[in-house]
Amino acid sequence: MKVLDAEFTQGFIRMANDGWEQGWHERNGGNLSYRMKESEVAEVKDDFSNGEWKPIGTTVPNLAGEFFMVTGSGKYFRNVIIKPEDSFCIIELDDKGENYRIVWGLVNGGRPTSELPSHLMNHEVKKLKTNGAYRVIYHAHPANTIALTFVLPLTDEAFTRELWEMATECPVVFPDGIGVVPWMVPGGREIAVETSKLMEKYDVAIWAHHGMFAAGEDFDLTFGLMHTVEKSAEILVKTLSMTNVKRQTIKPDEFRELAKDFKVSLPERFLFEK
Ligand SMILES: [Zn+2]
Repeated sequence: MKVLDAEFTQGFIRMANDGWEQGWHERNGGNLSYRMKESEVAEVKDDFSNGEWKPIGTTVPNLAGEFFMVTGSGKYFRNVIIKPEDSFCIIELDDKGENYRIVWGLVNGGRPTSELPSHLMNHEVKKLKTNGAYRVIYHAHPANTIALTFVLPLTDEAFTRELWEMATECPVVFPDGIGVVPWMVPGGREIAVETSKLMEKYDVAIWAHHGMFAAGEDFDLTFGLMHTVEKSAEILVKTLSMTNVKRQTIKPDEFRELAKDFKVSLPERFLFEK
């Protein structure tokens, strides 16, 4: 089967375009990666041709030999739907998890996203934590979430609690909470290490004054997670635009009731008295 005809490729393209339509991908902003199933690799491997091995920039031994679909560095999300083979690629990792080679896509040249170290280190953490269930890592620049990094304290507690309060679905959608990375230079191993540490505990990491990373099992869950966090951030931005004092909100005991009914466990460290 051709790569472009495969169901997972169609899912990848739709998610990239959905992110573009949300306004989260100005210019070449954002990146998306998907850890392919063995059955999906087998389905499309006749369409592969092997490029040269290149260093990843970090080491991910637990991903050795795996294949990833990943957006290209400098490529625009708005073009993914019309020029897929120019906008993203499939890469194979070597048997040590130190090098990659392009086996499909980026037909006009280029390389995978500059955030490849962050993507792969997050994939490695999530693969081990979820027994292989998680397959998607997504980075975008949603404006309301970024705006909050200028006014909320840059702590996991502040972001988790404030965003939980702004929509009742939030503690059910991200019960583990949200992590925050202070401002750092993007694209390197250092920010990848900090982000992957947060991915040990959370499915969402916010990069101060930059954007958000989300992880999930499939395209729907991962896009839905980013969408839910950003919607909640939008409600908070609207509220803060009217007043800096909430007249009423959801209280710690009400979160505990919600947790019981929806069978989620909410860490007590986020249910502090204000
Ligand atoms: Zn970015």
